[in-house]
Amino acid sequence: MEQQKYTCPMHPQIMEDEAGSCPICGMTLVLTKAENNHSGSHHNGMIADFKSGFM
Ligand SMILES: [Zn+2]
Repeated sequence: MEQQKYTCPMHPQIMEDEAGSCPICGMTLVLTKAENNHSGSHHNGMIADFKSGFM
């Protein structure tokens, strides 16, 4: 299962769970993958973070 976030194209530090506008510049947020980790060992940290941020 992949976690998806919305981010501002101009401000990668913006990470929102829902679509909307960037709080800095007002641009429409775009869907992005939360991780670009190709190591395959990123589950340990992600599961706890996913549960806490999901609801
Ligand atoms: Zn922005």
